[in-house]
Amino acid sequence: MSFKDLKLNKPLLRAVAETGYDNPTLIQQQAIPVILEQKDIIASAQTGTGKTAAFALPILQLLLDRQDAPKRSKTIKALIISPTRELAIQISENFKSYSTYTNLRSTVIFGGTAIEPQIDILKKGIDILIATPGRLLDLHKQDIVNLDYVETLVLDEADLMLDMGFIDDVKKIERLCPANKQTLLFSATMPYKVEQLANSILKQPTRIEVSPTSSAAKSVSQLLYYVPKRNKIELCLHLLRNTIKGTILIFRRTKFGVDKLEKTLLKNGYKVESFHGDKSQSQRQQALNNFKNNTVNILIATDVAARGLDINELDAVINFDMPNVPETYVHRIGRTGRAGKEGCSYSLCSADEKNYVTAIQQLTQKQITVEHEHPYPLDPKAKPEVHRSKKTGSKHKKGRKSEASKKKKKRWY
Ligand code: AMP
Repeated sequence: MSFKDLKLNKPLLRAVAETGYDNPTLIQQQAIPVILEQKDIIASAQTGTGKTAAFALPILQLLLDRQDAPKRSKTIKALIISPTRELAIQISENFKSYSTYTNLRSTVIFGGTAIEPQIDILKKGIDILIATPGRLLDLHKQDIVNLDYVETLVLDEADLMLDMGFIDDVKKIERLCPANKQTLLFSATMPYKVEQLANSILKQPTRIEVSPTSSAAKSVSQLLYYVPKRNKIELCLHLLRNTIKGTILIFRRTKFGVDKLEKTLLKNGYKVESFHGDKSQSQRQQALNNFKNNTVNILIATDVAARGLDINELDAVINFDMPNVPETYVHRIGRTGRAGKEGCSYSLCSADEKNYVTAIQQLTQKQITVEHEHPYPLDPKAKPEVHRSKKTGSKHKKGRKSEASKKKKKRWY
């Protein structure tokens, strides 16, 4: 399918081509026709799937008929709510590039920065507003933002929005828009509270679901430890002593690395077997048997040796070295969390392996949770967010939250 098949106007097709998109992504193929019919949607899609263009392009298309309205009489006809400033800015940049060849105007407003420049732009008249909830409500209260003419409301990253405690603000914003508007809800995950919100505000929505091209098993919790290369063994021992229990498969990139780690773990009293290409068939079989019948609970292996091995039902996988091929990561951690069981993966990443993490996250379209609380941080100055934010956070806080959102106590940051 091409963008032309989606019946987009020429100015949009030109901008899309210049942005470098050849064909619509899956979510764009599914969402654009439905949005053009002015139906509500609930879409489960993560960042990286092309979801921004999936709502931005049809919104622009729907507005194009009215693009000749003189600037001063412009009213906000599309409102996009985003939980964070960074996402709001990203969405705004997308709108700006897709609308290059139209005279539709868009702007972004968010807290934590001076309000006056935002007021000036809003007063000049815009068609599309991208906003974080708090600042939007502030400006609405001041009568700077008029939501009476909103035809399409987008709630982006709804799950994050609710996690951040914006539920009341979101509901309030929804009520401030006309009742007959079109509502588009996007969420990376669909927990019950998102479904509940959807049920209360969407009208016979079309469901759209796009799974990432390569998804890590859902039942595997993934943790990432940034650690200097020289401290990896200490961190591994620390985790085995305090955190990781049960049957464990440890991956190393090289045979030399496997042998070295095996010696260290044996010296420290762990029951370990190792498995790599330089071992004889009988040694390998013995190692595997010992692991399978629980004589030892730790097996250290290289990727190549472990491929195809029938060792399931592991409690944990440790990526002692980050794999340089992102698919390998998915395969490695897929060895745990099988058959409805919960699994855990622990990845130790040194400074020179950071690019591998980026590649993995691009492939899985998921951020791996970083565990800061451990004795060997890569950057000892980089204290966990919770400690750092206490002093500096208050400086920006004042201007950032609306009264409504300040009342909401539940925050995760
Ligand atoms: P998003 O999921 O909206 O954050 O988009 C993820 C990335 O995919 C962004 O860098 C977009 O510019 C890009 N993108 C969106 N649609 C397409 C497309 N049809 N073809 C290629 N890249 C795209």
